[in-house]
Amino acid sequence: KVDDATSAHPGRITTINGKTVILDKDGKPCRTCNSFSTFAAAMGTGAGKGNSPSTSSSFSSAATAAATATALTAAATTVPDTLPSDCPPDVEALGRGTWTLLHSLAATYPPSASVAEQNQMGTFMRIFARVYPCWYCAKDFQGWMDRDENKLERYLGGRREFGDWMCRAHNEVNKKLGKDEFDCSKWEERWLSGWKD
Ligand code: FAD
Repeated sequence: KVDDATSAHPGRITTINGKTVILDKDGKPCRTCNSFSTFAAAMGTGAGKGNSPSTSSSFSSAATAAATATALTAAATTVPDTLPSDCPPDVEALGRGTWTLLHSLAATYPPSASVAEQNQMGTFMRIFARVYPCWYCAKDFQGWMDRDENKLERYLGGRREFGDWMCRAHNEVNKKLGKDEFDCSKWEERWLSGWKD
Protein backbone atom coordinates (compact mmCIF):
# COMPACT_ATOMS: atom_id res chain seq x y z
CA LYS A 1 0.00 0.00 0.00
CA VAL A 2 1.40 3.36 -1.03
CA ASP A 3 0.11 6.52 0.60
CA ASP A 4 0.90 10.20 0.62
CA ALA A 5 2.33 10.19 -2.89
CA THR A 6 1.83 13.87 -3.52
CA SER A 7 3.73 15.84 -6.10
CA ALA A 8 4.63 18.41 -3.43
CA HIS A 9 7.02 15.87 -1.91
CA PRO A 10 10.38 15.17 -3.47
CA GLY A 11 9.96 11.63 -2.21
CA ARG A 12 7.13 9.47 -0.90
CA ILE A 13 6.15 7.49 2.12
CA THR A 14 5.12 3.88 1.66
CA THR A 15 3.62 1.45 4.10
CA ILE A 16 4.61 -2.14 3.50
CA ASN A 17 3.57 -4.91 5.85
CA GLY A 18 2.72 -2.21 8.38
CA LYS A 19 6.25 -0.81 8.21
CA THR A 20 6.76 2.76 7.05
CA VAL A 21 9.47 3.15 4.43
CA ILE A 22 10.54 6.60 3.23
CA LEU A 23 11.34 6.71 -0.46
CA ASP A 24 13.50 9.19 -2.31
CA LYS A 25 12.39 11.02 -5.43
CA ASP A 26 13.80 8.17 -7.53
CA GLY A 27 11.45 5.75 -5.74
CA LYS A 28 14.23 3.92 -3.89
CA PRO A 29 14.38 3.69 -0.09
CA CYS A 30 16.07 6.81 1.29
CA ARG A 31 19.10 5.85 3.33
CA THR A 32 19.27 9.09 5.29
CA CYS A 33 15.50 9.15 5.97
CA ASN A 34 15.00 5.66 7.43
CA SER A 35 16.46 3.83 10.38
CA PHE A 36 19.16 1.39 9.33
CA SER A 37 16.99 -1.65 10.08
CA THR A 38 14.13 -0.36 7.92
CA PHE A 39 16.45 0.63 5.09
CA ALA A 40 18.31 -2.67 5.17
CA ALA A 41 15.08 -4.64 5.22
CA ALA A 42 13.62 -2.62 2.35
CA MET A 43 16.74 -3.26 0.29
CA GLY A 44 16.80 -6.99 0.97
CA THR A 45 19.37 -8.25 3.46
CA GLY A 46 22.44 -6.42 2.15
CA ALA A 47 22.11 -2.72 2.89
CA GLY A 48 25.80 -2.26 2.34
CA LYS A 49 25.88 -4.33 -0.79
CA GLY A 50 22.77 -3.72 -2.85
CA ASN A 51 21.90 -0.55 -4.67
CA SER A 52 18.23 -1.07 -5.30
CA PRO A 53 15.26 -2.83 -3.78
CA SER A 54 15.36 -6.53 -4.40
CA THR A 55 14.10 -6.78 -7.96
CA SER A 56 13.74 -3.35 -9.44
CA SER A 57 14.94 0.23 -9.28
CA SER A 58 11.78 1.65 -7.72
CA PHE A 59 8.62 0.98 -5.76
CA SER A 60 6.49 2.42 -8.50
CA SER A 61 4.83 -0.84 -9.46
CA ALA A 62 2.67 -3.10 -7.36
CA ALA A 63 4.98 -5.99 -8.26
CA THR A 64 7.99 -4.17 -6.84
CA ALA A 65 6.10 -3.22 -3.71
CA ALA A 66 5.13 -6.85 -3.26
CA ALA A 67 8.75 -7.95 -3.76
CA THR A 68 9.85 -5.41 -1.20
CA ALA A 69 7.21 -6.62 1.23
CA THR A 70 8.68 -10.09 0.88
CA ALA A 71 12.16 -8.70 1.44
CA LEU A 72 11.00 -6.86 4.55
CA THR A 73 9.53 -10.02 6.00
CA ALA A 74 12.53 -12.17 5.11
CA ALA A 75 15.06 -9.63 6.29
CA ALA A 76 13.37 -8.87 9.57
CA THR A 77 15.18 -11.72 11.27
CA THR A 78 18.57 -11.35 9.58
CA VAL A 79 19.35 -7.63 9.52
CA PRO A 80 20.98 -6.01 12.56
CA ASP A 81 18.93 -3.31 14.27
CA THR A 82 21.79 -0.93 14.71
CA LEU A 83 23.93 0.79 12.15
CA PRO A 84 27.41 -0.70 11.80
CA SER A 85 30.01 1.99 12.57
CA ASP A 86 31.50 1.94 9.07
CA CYS A 87 28.21 2.28 7.18
CA PRO A 88 26.77 5.48 5.69
CA PRO A 89 24.52 7.27 8.19
CA ASP A 90 20.87 6.43 8.72
CA VAL A 91 18.34 9.04 9.89
CA GLU A 92 19.46 8.73 13.52
CA ALA A 93 23.23 8.91 13.02
CA LEU A 94 22.78 11.80 10.61
CA GLY A 95 20.50 13.55 13.11
CA ARG A 96 22.86 13.09 16.08
CA GLY A 97 25.84 14.41 14.12
CA THR A 98 23.84 17.31 12.75
CA TRP A 99 22.43 18.37 16.12
CA THR A 100 26.00 18.33 17.46
CA LEU A 101 26.99 20.73 14.71
CA LEU A 102 23.92 22.96 15.07
CA HIS A 103 24.09 23.27 18.87
CA SER A 104 27.84 23.84 18.63
CA LEU A 105 27.22 26.64 16.15
CA ALA A 106 24.86 28.19 18.68
CA ALA A 107 27.34 27.65 21.53
CA THR A 108 30.11 29.45 19.65
CA TYR A 109 27.85 32.21 18.29
CA PRO A 110 28.85 35.64 19.66
CA PRO A 111 27.03 36.80 22.83
CA SER A 112 26.13 39.86 20.80
CA ALA A 113 26.26 39.33 17.05
CA SER A 114 27.03 41.97 14.45
CA VAL A 115 24.69 42.50 11.52
CA ALA A 116 27.14 40.64 9.26
CA GLU A 117 27.25 37.67 11.67
CA GLN A 118 23.46 37.60 11.90
CA ASN A 119 23.19 37.62 8.12
CA GLN A 120 25.73 34.82 7.75
CA MET A 121 23.97 32.59 10.27
CA GLY A 122 20.54 33.37 8.84
CA THR A 123 21.75 32.44 5.37
CA PHE A 124 23.39 29.26 6.64
CA MET A 125 20.26 28.10 8.47
CA ARG A 126 17.95 28.82 5.55
CA ILE A 127 20.18 26.89 3.15
CA PHE A 128 20.64 24.12 5.72
CA ALA A 129 16.86 23.73 5.97
CA ARG A 130 16.67 23.23 2.22
CA VAL A 131 19.55 20.82 1.71
CA TYR A 132 19.31 18.59 4.81
CA PRO A 133 19.70 15.05 3.43
CA CYS A 134 16.49 13.66 5.00
CA TRP A 135 13.86 15.31 2.80
CA TYR A 136 10.87 14.90 5.06
CA CYS A 137 12.88 16.08 8.11
CA ALA A 138 13.90 19.15 6.08
CA LYS A 139 10.33 19.80 4.99
CA ASP A 140 9.02 19.76 8.57
CA PHE A 141 11.95 21.88 9.74
CA GLN A 142 11.23 24.48 7.05
CA GLY A 143 7.59 24.48 8.13
CA TRP A 144 8.62 25.09 11.75
CA MET A 145 10.98 27.91 10.72
CA ASP A 146 8.20 29.53 8.69
CA ARG A 147 5.90 29.92 11.70
CA ASP A 148 5.64 33.49 12.94
CA GLU A 149 6.83 32.72 16.45
CA ASN A 150 9.93 30.94 15.10
CA LYS A 151 11.12 33.47 12.53
CA LEU A 152 14.88 33.22 12.81
CA GLU A 153 15.58 36.93 12.26
CA ARG A 154 14.19 37.63 15.72
CA TYR A 155 16.59 35.24 17.42
CA LEU A 156 19.93 36.04 15.83
CA GLY A 157 20.88 38.94 18.09
CA GLY A 158 23.14 36.81 20.25
CA ARG A 159 24.06 33.38 21.64
CA ARG A 160 21.29 33.19 24.25
CA GLU A 161 18.45 33.79 21.82
CA PHE A 162 19.92 31.69 19.04
CA GLY A 163 20.75 28.77 21.35
CA ASP A 164 17.25 28.83 22.81
CA TRP A 165 15.76 28.91 19.30
CA MET A 166 17.87 25.89 18.35
CA CYS A 167 16.81 24.07 21.50
CA ARG A 168 13.14 24.69 20.69
CA ALA A 169 13.71 23.51 17.13
CA HIS A 170 15.25 20.29 18.43
CA ASN A 171 12.41 19.85 20.94
CA GLU A 172 9.92 20.08 18.10
CA VAL A 173 11.54 17.02 16.54
CA ASN A 174 11.78 15.30 19.93
CA LYS A 175 8.02 15.79 20.36
CA LYS A 176 7.31 14.49 16.88
CA LEU A 177 9.33 11.35 17.64
CA GLY A 178 7.67 10.85 21.04
CA LYS A 179 10.88 11.64 22.96
CA ASP A 180 11.19 13.68 26.15
CA GLU A 181 11.62 17.39 25.68
CA PHE A 182 14.97 18.83 26.70
CA ASP A 183 15.01 21.58 29.38
CA CYS A 184 16.15 24.56 27.30
CA SER A 185 17.41 26.42 30.38
CA LYS A 186 20.20 23.82 30.32
CA TRP A 187 21.29 24.00 26.69
CA GLU A 188 24.46 25.98 27.50
CA GLU A 189 25.54 23.39 30.05
CA ARG A 190 24.98 20.62 27.51
CA TRP A 191 26.69 22.32 24.58
CA LEU A 192 29.04 24.98 25.94
CA SER A 193 30.14 24.97 29.57
CA GLY A 194 29.58 21.37 30.66
CA TRP A 195 27.26 20.24 33.49
CA LYS A 196 27.44 22.19 36.74
CA ASP A 197 27.50 19.12 39.00
P1 FAD B 1 19.33 13.54 19.32
O1 FAD B 1 17.89 13.91 19.27
O2 FAD B 1 20.07 13.42 18.07
O3 FAD B 1 20.06 14.47 20.35
C1 FAD B 1 21.46 14.42 20.59
C2 FAD B 1 21.71 14.98 21.96
O4 FAD B 1 21.27 16.32 22.00
C3 FAD B 1 20.92 14.30 23.06
O5 FAD B 1 21.60 13.18 23.54
C4 FAD B 1 20.76 15.39 24.12
O6 FAD B 1 21.87 15.41 24.99
C5 FAD B 1 20.78 16.66 23.32
N1 FAD B 1 19.44 17.24 23.12
C6 FAD B 1 18.25 16.62 22.93
N2 FAD B 1 17.28 17.50 22.75
C7 FAD B 1 17.87 18.71 22.82
C8 FAD B 1 17.38 20.04 22.71
N3 FAD B 1 16.09 20.30 22.50
N4 FAD B 1 18.24 21.06 22.83
C9 FAD B 1 19.56 20.84 23.08
N5 FAD B 1 20.09 19.61 23.18
C10 FAD B 1 19.24 18.57 23.06
N6 FAD B 1 14.47 12.00 12.82
C11 FAD B 1 13.31 11.41 12.46
O7 FAD B 1 13.16 10.20 12.64
N7 FAD B 1 12.29 12.15 11.89
C12 FAD B 1 12.42 13.48 11.65
O8 FAD B 1 11.50 14.12 11.12
C13 FAD B 1 13.64 14.12 12.00
N8 FAD B 1 13.83 15.43 11.76
C14 FAD B 1 15.04 15.99 12.03
C15 FAD B 1 15.26 17.34 11.71
C16 FAD B 1 16.50 17.91 11.91
C17 FAD B 1 16.72 19.36 11.52
C18 FAD B 1 17.55 17.14 12.47
C19 FAD B 1 18.91 17.76 12.67
C20 FAD B 1 17.34 15.82 12.83
C21 FAD B 1 16.09 15.23 12.62
N9 FAD B 1 15.84 13.90 12.96
C22 FAD B 1 14.66 13.32 12.60
C23 FAD B 1 16.82 13.11 13.74
C24 FAD B 1 16.43 13.14 15.22
O9 FAD B 1 16.23 14.47 15.69
C25 FAD B 1 17.54 12.53 16.12
O10 FAD B 1 18.78 13.13 15.83
C26 FAD B 1 17.69 11.02 15.99
O11 FAD B 1 16.44 10.39 16.22
C27 FAD B 1 18.72 10.48 17.01
O12 FAD B 1 18.22 10.80 18.30
P2 FAD B 1 19.01 10.64 19.65
O13 FAD B 1 18.01 10.17 20.66
O14 FAD B 1 20.25 9.89 19.49
O15 FAD B 1 19.43 12.11 20.12
